[in-house]
Amino acid sequence: MIYHHIALNVPISDGLFTYAHPTALPQGCRVVVSFRNKKVVGIVWASHITPDIDTAKILPVQTAFADEPPLPANWMALLAFTARYYHYPLGQAVSAALPLGLKEPKPVAIPQPPLFYSLSQVGREQTPPPQRFHKQYALWQALLSDGQSLAALKKINTQAPKLLETWTAEGWIQANAADMPVIKPSEHRLNAEQKAASEAVQTAFGSFMPFLLYGITGSGKTEVYFDIAAKVLAAGKQVLFLLPEINLTPQLLKRVQARFGGVPTAVLHSQTASGRRTQDYLRAMLGQAKLIIGTRLAVFTPLPDLGLVVVDEEHDGSFKQDNELRYQARDLAIWRAKQENCPIVLGSATPSLESWHKAQSGAYRLQTLTERAHTAAHLPQVDILPIGRLKLDNGFSPQALKLLQNNYQQGGMSLVYLNRRGFAPALFCGECGHTFGCPRCSAKMVLHQRARQLRCHHCDFRQPVPYACPECGNQDLTAVGQGTQRIEETLRAWLPQAAVVRVDRDSTAHQNDWADLYRRIAADEVDILVGTQMLSKGHDFARLNLVIVLNADGSLYSADFRAPEKLFAELMQVSGRAGRSETAGRVLIQTRLPEHPVFAAVKAQDYRIFAENELAERRLFAMPPFGFQTAIRADAANIGDALQFLQDIQAVVAPLMPSEVSVFGPAPMLMVRLAERERAQIFLESVSRKALHHAVGLWVQVLQQYRDHKIRWSVDVDPAEM
Ligand code: ADP
Ligand code: ZN
Repeated sequence: MIYHHIALNVPISDGLFTYAHPTALPQGCRVVVSFRNKKVVGIVWASHITPDIDTAKILPVQTAFADEPPLPANWMALLAFTARYYHYPLGQAVSAALPLGLKEPKPVAIPQPPLFYSLSQVGREQTPPPQRFHKQYALWQALLSDGQSLAALKKINTQAPKLLETWTAEGWIQANAADMPVIKPSEHRLNAEQKAASEAVQTAFGSFMPFLLYGITGSGKTEVYFDIAAKVLAAGKQVLFLLPEINLTPQLLKRVQARFGGVPTAVLHSQTASGRRTQDYLRAMLGQAKLIIGTRLAVFTPLPDLGLVVVDEEHDGSFKQDNELRYQARDLAIWRAKQENCPIVLGSATPSLESWHKAQSGAYRLQTLTERAHTAAHLPQVDILPIGRLKLDNGFSPQALKLLQNNYQQGGMSLVYLNRRGFAPALFCGECGHTFGCPRCSAKMVLHQRARQLRCHHCDFRQPVPYACPECGNQDLTAVGQGTQRIEETLRAWLPQAAVVRVDRDSTAHQNDWADLYRRIAADEVDILVGTQMLSKGHDFARLNLVIVLNADGSLYSADFRAPEKLFAELMQVSGRAGRSETAGRVLIQTRLPEHPVFAAVKAQDYRIFAENELAERRLFAMPPFGFQTAIRADAANIGDALQFLQDIQAVVAPLMPSEVSVFGPAPMLMVRLAERERAQIFLESVSRKALHHAVGLWVQVLQQYRDHKIRWSVDVDPAEM
């Protein structure tokens, strides 16, 4: 018997279990084994291992899918790294990375590369079938010409597969894999900056080199990705193109189709039907698909011949998965490019501060596009309106309503944008704009009305609600968090003739809803759009020339230290919606915190100003990217149990903690309740990744020993959620 380590989808230690098989199975082979009397699929991780348990107790592998191509070694290395880095059981990480079809205990259909058939030399010397068998004759005639796909041949003769089989047995047929399809040139000539960016990346072909492509919205980043991808595809290599869920639109796929129509493409995202996804996964793994487009989970696609990785809108939060395997696809994409020795391009109009910092320090190469590619398109005029002392009508200032009215009368289209990113209730001073930060961390304090306390959800520091502003003495401190429900009604009352359309999760639940919305917009049937984050990205509405941002500052009171970064990206995106074409755009941002640096940067439409300010502050507090964090979370039916659990573990681990690691908490999470569970967390922070990794490892060891079925726990490395 040969003993194997098989990776199984179970949350026990690393998820590797020992099974026996009479012969050595190849690494990466799919197998079926019995685990706790259930048939489950596993992946052979290692063979010829020396068992550390009684061999009499080792079960045999029930089925090995030895005819299927095994998962490749570079993929296994990726998963091993992922499991280690994110402190997640390997077997479960493997399962998360596989499409459904490969997790079922039955054989999977192996996609065949499209073949092109024609008569071989021997075939051409044969007498054709008699003409009276006209269908057979027609098929023969077709095979005399250049290669024909099976689909085309079936149209000529439905019996084509059978006849081909017979004739192939005679040696009359030759089958060739497709030639690399010709890629159409772009309809645009790249401008000088685009060209420079593309050429810089091309010089790095065949070596690992990360690029940050920083270019304002509409500056032609997509054209640059396409230009580089065309070169890689023409050389027969694969391209992995990652983008946020919300950007994987029919519009983008149409653009890809127009340019790379002939290239075998796999589209991988969570909405793809599972059968299709499994087939596309395999086509990518077998090198049949050359262009792989997908959302974060596509980063786990096995690719034998990777030549380029692109991460579009690299700052986008959707690259981070916030449950189960909590990974950051952008970071894993970098790892893959390094593994495969190929360049990677991260693109954004508002790069993540992590990436910007790396570009500043020289770890990434910065390429910049400073102008809109469409010569007619202009940057919008942005105005910041302080609303501290204004009387608002359901959130609207008189100025905003006036602008909306004028724009409607002049036939323009407007967008009313609500920033409703979840934020906890906070306290601020309406006079001077003072907000309440924790004296011990960089986090903002959260208002707990009933307890009359301000609390820090980072370190759990508490203080009574102050009576007056410590800065200006104002005694009338206000809680933030106004309702936004009546926006639509207010607009209807103010402009009864205007067509007002609200875009939210409900109104876009169905796939056709977006198409319907586009149709109505194209047909000039919409005057005012009302919407949230969903509307800020990716959509190109030519007639849109006015954007009004209500409650812009909501998230700035939030305890999330990334709130300004997210707000800046959002405001830049949403102002980018105005004036995508010939009509110059206007943006009005209402805020109670006009002094906040984020607004000056948005007004100047200048990411660099913002990034410098923000990074200076992060450096001061050793926050990412200057320090690193891991959150250990626990949830229970009530918060007390969750906090107690983390305290108990901490008591055990504390004496072992390396001195370079600081521990904050435990404290309740900002959003304490989720799905009827209450959540607490503890933060481990360090400027040394190595020390932090070691500390988290110690925590996990202790956590695994404490089995309490009432408590669930998880580890979030580089957390995005506070
Ligand atoms: P981004 O990805 O930076 O938002 P896109 O690549 O989508 O920018 O380009 C914005 C618009 O400009 C698109 O309509 C695109 O077709 C057009 N465009 C891009 N590059 C050029 C160019 N070199 N010349 C003319 N138009 C261009
Ligand atoms: Zn604190």
